[in-house]
Amino acid sequence: MVRYTAMWIDTHCHLDAPEFGADHALALNLRERAAALGVGRCVIPAVERANFGTVRQLAHRLGDAYALGIHPLCVPRAQDTDLHALDAALTEHRNDPRLVAVGEIGLDFFVPALCTPEMRERQSFFYRAQLRLARQHGLPVIVHVRRSADMLLKHLRELPTGGGIAHAFNGSEQQAQAFLGLGFKLGFGGAVTFEPARQLRRLATELPLSALVLETDAPDIPPHWLYATAAERAAGQAQGVNSPAELPRIGAVVSELRGLSAGDLMCATTANALAVLPRLAALVRSA
Ligand code: ZN
Repeated sequence: MVRYTAMWIDTHCHLDAPEFGADHALALNLRERAAALGVGRCVIPAVERANFGTVRQLAHRLGDAYALGIHPLCVPRAQDTDLHALDAALTEHRNDPRLVAVGEIGLDFFVPALCTPEMRERQSFFYRAQLRLARQHGLPVIVHVRRSADMLLKHLRELPTGGGIAHAFNGSEQQAQAFLGLGFKLGFGGAVTFEPARQLRRLATELPLSALVLETDAPDIPPHWLYATAAERAAGQAQGVNSPAELPRIGAVVSELRGLSAGDLMCATTANALAVLPRLAALVRSA
C-alpha cells in the first residue's frame, strides 16, 4: 500500500540568504506563510564552509532540513581545507535527522570567471571530492547544473552516489534520462512558469511523473508573477521576493501542464522527494 504525504516540499531554497534579513526575520515570516499554504518541509542547502552552521541552525529553528556542501560559485574563494571541514561537519552531524544530503555542489560553465581552464579544473576537483564524501557518508547529492550537464554526468558515472537531485534542471531530454538512470530526480521551479521556456515546459509535461521534484531556489529564479523586467524595474517596479510560499503556485503551473490536479501533483512530487532523500522521509514520518 502506498502512503501519501499531503504536503508540498520545497527541495531547494536558500533561506539563510542575505535577502531574507541579517537576523532571518523575513525568512521566518515567509516560511510561516509557506506553511499556511501547505509547504510542509524545505531543504536548505549550504553554499560554503562559512554558512554550514547557519543553515543547520536555521533548519532546526524552522523545523526543516539542510544539506552541506561547497557551491561551484563559491569555489574561487574556497580552500582545500574546506573539504576537511565538510568531512568533519558531515561526521559530527551524522545523527542529525535534519541533515539530508551533500549540497549544493556541482559545476557552472555559464559564469565567465568560472570557465577558465584553471577554474574548470578547480571546480571539478571540488565536485569530485564532494562526490567521494557523499559516497563515504552514504548521502545523496544536490547538484547545480549550468551548461555543465554532460561533464557532471561523466563524473557521476565514475563516482556514483546512488542518487540525488539535479536542481533547476534545464537540459535536454537525453541529459534528463541520463540523470534518471543514475537515480536522480529533476528539480523544477520558477523557470517553468515562463511560457517562452518551451523546452523546459515540454520536459515538465512529458517526463515520467516519478522524475519530478519541486523547488523555488529562493531568493533566486522568481516565477513569472514576481518577475519584473529591466524596463519595469527602471520604471520603479520592485522585483518580488521569491520564497517557499510560491511553491504551491509553481506546483499548480506544473499540474496544469500535465493535466493533473494540484493535489495529485503534490502527492507525487512529495513522494519523489522523500524517495530520493531517505533521511527527509524519516524526518517527515517521525513528525
Ligand atoms: Zn541553490
